[in-house]
Amino acid sequence: MSKTEKALTISDLGEFGLIDHLTKDFTITDKKLIKGIGDDAAVFETGDICTLVTTDLLVEGIHFNLIYTPLKHLGYKAVVVNLSDLYAMNATPKYITVSIAVSRKFSVPALEQLYEGIKIACDRFGVELAGGDTTSSLSGLFINITAIGEAKKEDIVFRSGAKKNDLVCVSGDLGGSYCGLQLLEREKEVFIGDPAIQPKLDGFEYIVERQLKPEPRRDIIQKLKEAGIKPTSMIDISDGLSSEMLHLCKNSGCGCMIFEDKIPVHPQTEAASVMFGIDPSIAAMNGGEDYELLFTVPLDKKDIIEKLNDISIIGYIHEDKNTKLFVPRNGAELELKAQGWNPMKG
Ligand code: ADP
Ligand code: MG
Repeated sequence: MSKTEKALTISDLGEFGLIDHLTKDFTITDKKLIKGIGDDAAVFETGDICTLVTTDLLVEGIHFNLIYTPLKHLGYKAVVVNLSDLYAMNATPKYITVSIAVSRKFSVPALEQLYEGIKIACDRFGVELAGGDTTSSLSGLFINITAIGEAKKEDIVFRSGAKKNDLVCVSGDLGGSYCGLQLLEREKEVFIGDPAIQPKLDGFEYIVERQLKPEPRRDIIQKLKEAGIKPTSMIDISDGLSSEMLHLCKNSGCGCMIFEDKIPVHPQTEAASVMFGIDPSIAAMNGGEDYELLFTVPLDKKDIIEKLNDISIIGYIHEDKNTKLFVPRNGAELELKAQGWNPMKG
């Protein structure tokens, strides 16, 4: 390195730049690995049925704060964020492994609570606990879950299949989890100031639950299957709509037009946004952790999609990969940008 050349820092690269940088020398030679890095899960061809693998690491103080996160909820969430990635590939989750690093501050009953949440998620989504690892940590709790699923090769949906004029669709509503987090953070500060004061969450139960106990959208996957629709591309929304939309565009080599007035936002998200002085659309576009599905379908499926509950058409795919636009209510055309509030959090 010359004296004028500065060493790259993590913030120069960002999360995705860092992953690209660290993995650039790894080339796939095994033909059975159909998809390696770069989608919601890796895909291996294992006979008639493919195996899919995804993993997520949750770190205390970064991804969760135990002041307001019940361990049972945390266990549930740690599983479902992984299942969400498998559903985003149109796959069926089958097994998980759970690895934990625990500091001395945790009691056995506390860890039992964590595993209670893990068990509820396993039972609800038909997943078996297949193993894991347990070790100690100097500070706090780390949970790494790996989920393994399966799917027929022809059923798998990648981030890369979006085509010109496809409709861009999203399930549920967006921005709730972010606003729920803001509320919990506010109440935490109040609690630290005076532990006698009870948290004020009345009227915001939905968005608090969106943050503490998100649900993966298995129901949407089933609904699309029943309607005979296979999305052309799909991703789950963990980092915010803008960021995930840009991933779909990049992987599919296309652009998009997204319309602000079509983005689904829950009334509690609206109310909380007003209270915090944030634009609800910014919470929806950049908030993250909603674990909804963002997917594209061919234009000729419009009539069927419009009849399905809990799915909104928010825009369409543009053939030019340099045209990625966000159209606010006033009709202006802005460049779609990922302004994740904490890019290293995911
Ligand atoms: P998601 O948000 O769907 O969980 P990520 O953004 O975490 O996906 O990861 C994007 C892609 O990069 C995935 O294919 C993931 O497996 C891969 N990836 C993330 N971190 C690493 C790493 N440290 N080494 C290798 N691959 C990684
Ligand atoms: Mg994902």
